[in-house]
Amino acid sequence: AQMCREASRTYGDRPALTTMLPTGAQTTITYAELDALSDQFAGYLREDIGLAAGETVALMSPNCIGFCVASMGIAKAGCINTNVNPLYTAQELEHQLTDGNAKALVIVDLFGDKVDQVVGHTNVKHVVTLSLVDFFPMLKKAFLGFVLKRVRKVVPDISTPHVRMSDALARGRKSIAGKDVAAYAKQVKPSDTALLQYTSGTTGRSKGAELSHSGVLLNAHQGYLMVEDEVKDGAETALIALPLYHITAYVLIFILGMKLGSHAVLAPSPRPPSNLKAAFEKYTITWFTGVNTLFAALLAEPWFDRRMFENLRFCGSGGAAQQTGVALKWQERTGIGINQGYGMTEISGVLTLNPPSDNRFGKVGIPVPGAEIRIVDDDGYEVPLGAPGEVIARSPTLMKGYVNRPDATEEALRDGWLYTGDIGVMDADGFLEIVDRKKDMILVSGFNVSPGEIEDVISTVPGVIQVGVIGIPDDKTGETPVAFVVCVDEGPTEDAILGACREVLTNYKIPRQVRFVDAVPVTLTGKVLRRQLREDYLN
Ligand code: ATP
Ligand code: MG
Repeated sequence: AQMCREASRTYGDRPALTTMLPTGAQTTITYAELDALSDQFAGYLREDIGLAAGETVALMSPNCIGFCVASMGIAKAGCINTNVNPLYTAQELEHQLTDGNAKALVIVDLFGDKVDQVVGHTNVKHVVTLSLVDFFPMLKKAFLGFVLKRVRKVVPDISTPHVRMSDALARGRKSIAGKDVAAYAKQVKPSDTALLQYTSGTTGRSKGAELSHSGVLLNAHQGYLMVEDEVKDGAETALIALPLYHITAYVLIFILGMKLGSHAVLAPSPRPPSNLKAAFEKYTITWFTGVNTLFAALLAEPWFDRRMFENLRFCGSGGAAQQTGVALKWQERTGIGINQGYGMTEISGVLTLNPPSDNRFGKVGIPVPGAEIRIVDDDGYEVPLGAPGEVIARSPTLMKGYVNRPDATEEALRDGWLYTGDIGVMDADGFLEIVDRKKDMILVSGFNVSPGEIEDVISTVPGVIQVGVIGIPDDKTGETPVAFVVCVDEGPTEDAILGACREVLTNYKIPRQVRFVDAVPVTLTGKVLRRQLREDYLN
């Protein structure tokens, strides 16, 4: 809430947000408008539907202006925002609404079919629908809305009572007349929960991490301190292709962007990657954050042209391992290195980042100011420098715990330290390397093998687009690695891939088998879903 008001004071007339549809249709609001609209939404939540400070509002939408207005409105109302993955099934949505005890749901109309199936089973009493074409000028909105609804028949009808975002804002505007909207947020303390942010569910059912206002704000600030010399206040244009419902984009692009007064160009979906073409053509993008799969997919696009990336100043990657092969190809084609970071929901975003002045391939950087990390063995003792162990972290941005999960909280938080479940190695310069998740390590004849290390090697083979490695049971060695590979047409043979592995990996790390597939399952935020690969393999 505070960040939004400050941005309006400093950068009022600057463009804040643009919704950029794949067709090239776009609309923009300024920082002053974002501030005014989110005040209205806060007013709607507090005055019109009578929510109290500390109550939870769920927000399920792809990147668009409506998402940001709703999210800032929820914060200004002193309510808790729980971001929902827009691709969730009805069942997953119901779980999050129930688990987080949401009282209201803001949902994009495209996925409105889930409302009727789910809302009746939860404590949600108010539904607001938003549209990708909200905030477009009237005529254009009518036309685009017509196309979405009639021609493509993609907007389902909802029979549960609901209010459209535009109507909610109009009601809120009337209700806040003569009232001090800033007073709502003053009813909550900086240490109160701002975000009930669910983890990605890569290793199991996702858990709701309780993140505070001060933690989220501070994490954005920590990120800022790392890139301060690289970015210019009031002069950046960021393309937000990563989903805002996830912690990385939310805190380190959206919230940090408000601090910088940067212009955020919001892409509702980076899939297929051609959806981003219009944004690169129309805007001079200076700041781009992606994930491995997105960089790889962009490099394979026929329109990908160095000239489009001429003004890029900063390119970040985080949330999933950045494969070296992809990073090298990216640097070769754009002239800009990918700055890798490492973080997690539980820490409110980023934990380590490569300083742009000393960007190292294969490393995730150094701790952000104010955060500490240690590498420990299974008994919790620090391992010698250069040895692998579990990464544990301490930071004022750490979550309070997982909602309704005392068991998982107890396992993750011990003596004020977060046990990340990731295996890492620290070098003499204080740079961290992430080896892999503890749960994904493959035990071959007593040796720990990291699937990520094998994926990294295979990613450098020409013609390889995507790769995922898992361990499968083996009679002789206990487990053995198998690689799932997506290639270009007439790509490399199994022999060529295994040959590349033999050049750099010891014998027991060489995959037993290479399987050529059409796609490797990944989350929306680019993590290889090894859990699903294992299930698919066994079936
Ligand atoms: P869940 O906890 O529900 O299984 P998740 O851990 O994937 O899901 P997030 O909080 O979104 O949920 O992701 C944090 C994790 O992502 C980290 O613990 C780490 O395993 C992985 N990760 C983040 N950045 C990197 C990186 N640069 N390299 C390798 N792994 C990374
Ligand atoms: Mg996790």
